Amino acid sequence: RPVIFSGMQPSSDSLHLGNYLGALVNWVALQDAYDPIYCVVDLHAITVQQDPEALRQNVRRTAAQYLAAGIDLDRSTLFVQSHVPAHAELAWVLGSMTGFGEASRMTQFKDKSAKQGSDATTVGLFTYPVLMAADILLYGTHLVPVGDDQRQHLELTRDLANRFNARYGETMVVPEALIGKESARIYDLQEPTAKMSKSAGSEAGLVKLLDEPSITAKKFRSAVTDTEREIRFDPASKPGISNLLGIYAAVTGKSIDALEREYAGRGYGDLKKELAELVVDTIAPIRARTLELMQDPAELDRLLAIGAEKASDRAERMLRDVYDRVGFVRRG
Ligand code: ATP
Ligand code: MG
Repeated sequence: RPVIFSGMQPSSDSLHLGNYLGALVNWVALQDAYDPIYCVVDLHAITVQQDPEALRQNVRRTAAQYLAAGIDLDRSTLFVQSHVPAHAELAWVLGSMTGFGEASRMTQFKDKSAKQGSDATTVGLFTYPVLMAADILLYGTHLVPVGDDQRQHLELTRDLANRFNARYGETMVVPEALIGKESARIYDLQEPTAKMSKSAGSEAGLVKLLDEPSITAKKFRSAVTDTEREIRFDPASKPGISNLLGIYAAVTGKSIDALEREYAGRGYGDLKKELAELVVDTIAPIRARTLELMQDPAELDRLLAIGAEKASDRAERMLRDVYDRVGFVRRG
């Protein structure tokens, strides 16, 4: 079975609709045909300052949301990144093979750092894509299901894998992106030209899986649109309505064309109200199950420890091989 690796940052108290429609839905579907490794990437999360108690809580919440959405521990390996030190160790080796200019071209870093200013921007945020490459390459990953915002990082991962192989001999599997056919890229409801994001953007524009249903409905009702009346998919001139149609299509599986026909002659209010109901119906069971799982943190920790054990065995093997090839002396 081809290996799949993917992760999310525990950088917020809830995952959002973009994480769900752009990633988690696919993760669940992939469990039958693949050997999936799903990670809560806490090392990535601290590239932006986190409150320690909140982080601890958010790690468990993120894992609980994976499980609540349908990640099944009989078919998937689920673990926390910091439980497997090989991630940080391989990242150091790969970082020593990454050009400074190469890393400087990553647009996510440019976007995030431009918002923060250079003193609030950490070196960890800069080297984030290298750690991501380590996450993927440690497991001989064949396919990486990521949202389209991660395409460039995956390209870097492939370059690093090829570079390692060319320099030291065949070691790394060169991974491919697995981006869903109509891969949902979900935008902020208040700022529909910016992707919905846990750590950036407005609270009002962020649809959280763990929001109460009434809050979710309100966020849709106040979604930014435009001054026309026509419900038409046109991201350039109608980003707000296009985003709502994109969400609608992702939630229902209907095509955008079909939705345009269905809503011909009807108002924005109808679209927002009906979409809000659909989204609430979709995420309510996930929310309920997550809250239930959070009642028993010791049990969650136990499940995560089993996952860490499985992941460690595989990661350690790759790291030993890498250290040998790079020329490190084995500890006697
Ligand atoms: P942060 O703002 O902390 O970076 P994030 O919202 O970007 O958080 P990540 O943890 O970085 O979330 O990403 C988790 C997964 O969700 C990745 O596969 C990413 O591609 C996907 N994803 C994130 N945001 C969106 C979005 N708006 N639409 C579709 N997929 C998304
Ligand atoms: Mg992100």
